[in-house]
Amino acid sequence: MIQPHGGVLINRVDEELPVNDENLIVELDNISFSDLELIAIGAYSPLEGFMGENDYRSVVREMRLSSGLPWSIPITLPVSNEVAKNIHYGETINLVKDGIVYGVMTVKDLFMPDKTEEAKQVFKTADLNHPGVRKLFDRPEVYLGGPVTLVKRPTNDEFAGYYLVPTATRAMFEKLGWNTIVGFQTRNPVHRAHEYLQKCALEMVDGLFLNPLVGETKADDIPSDVRMRSYKILLKHYYPSDRVFLSVFPAAMRYAGPREAIFHALVRKNYGCTHFIVGRDHAGVGNYYGSYDAQKIFSIFSQEEIGIQTIFFENSYYCRKCENMASSRTCPHGKEHHVSLSGTKVRAMLQNGEMPPKEFSRPEVAKILIEGMQQQSLFRSGMVANDGK
Ligand code: ADP
Repeated sequence: MIQPHGGVLINRVDEELPVNDENLIVELDNISFSDLELIAIGAYSPLEGFMGENDYRSVVREMRLSSGLPWSIPITLPVSNEVAKNIHYGETINLVKDGIVYGVMTVKDLFMPDKTEEAKQVFKTADLNHPGVRKLFDRPEVYLGGPVTLVKRPTNDEFAGYYLVPTATRAMFEKLGWNTIVGFQTRNPVHRAHEYLQKCALEMVDGLFLNPLVGETKADDIPSDVRMRSYKILLKHYYPSDRVFLSVFPAAMRYAGPREAIFHALVRKNYGCTHFIVGRDHAGVGNYYGSYDAQKIFSIFSQEEIGIQTIFFENSYYCRKCENMASSRTCPHGKEHHVSLSGTKVRAMLQNGEMPPKEFSRPEVAKILIEGMQQQSLFRSGMVANDGK
């Protein structure tokens, strides 16, 4: 089994830990709530808590923790000045979401970040139109750092059966007898291009870990419950059941392109993957990153430092001349023969109840997405309640 990042799989879950109700309360937003859980279950190993100033600055500037270990995304706990002024070094605080204490943290650090520098380094832009940058600036202004303990597991009922912690995925891969496992990150439905990447990789490795991100995404991304339905139907009809394992990745999307690709790879190593797919514009948004920047960035580090093996893919599409999925590495035909649709175009089609070409998306998948979109617009118009009735 592959070593976790930094050598030790972190476990900071202790549901027996007595919690003092008198402790100061810090309200978590969706991002820090999911980060708390991901730290505690070891997905972010070697992190044991939210970053202190040394790690934070080193990650922002050097893409390394202060220990020198590669790490590309700051994992921070932002609080307002109001909250920060009542917090003292060494104090234990309760981490709360919707009135429930989920974690405790010993405050080891409290500092003011330079968010413009963070944006420019991590997102390569300080443009507030970038959803990740917008989020960064919308969050409060003081960062708290320190080790955390998760004292209550968040309920993940909507993903029942598909929510596994890294120790469990590692045990599962062992049970399945897989030595080589390729991780696939996605915040989208699996279209034909995604399927092509996954199946090319499956020709080379023992198993595919389909690990869709289901934490906070931008509002126009397809909701995770709809995506989950689409993954299940796709796997049922088009994948050998003994070679794929589906389980969710409860992190928030940052849209940090290249930096997020490194982060996604390291985290999948913690889940037990030996390989990781990076295609075109991984974790990108708009035109902020070059199509292959998320691949190039890996060359900054040695293979030993990253540990997990990346598998890179060129932009892939269905070619009507080849009558196959292909990329410029395998197909000599011009663009006019390629079936490729922008995300915006596909969303518009689905919203209108139109099926995208079967060469773009499997009909079984498209049907679920159309139903999901229609359900969503009914929610928006207030015609149905949130429980789907
Ligand atoms: P994200 O990387 O933001 O989660 P996606 O869900 O679209 O976005 O992509 C999942 C993975 O598939 C990424 O590695 C991405 O680079 C790759 N990918 C998506 N579409 C294509 C395509 N048409 N050709 C090559 N790679 C692709």
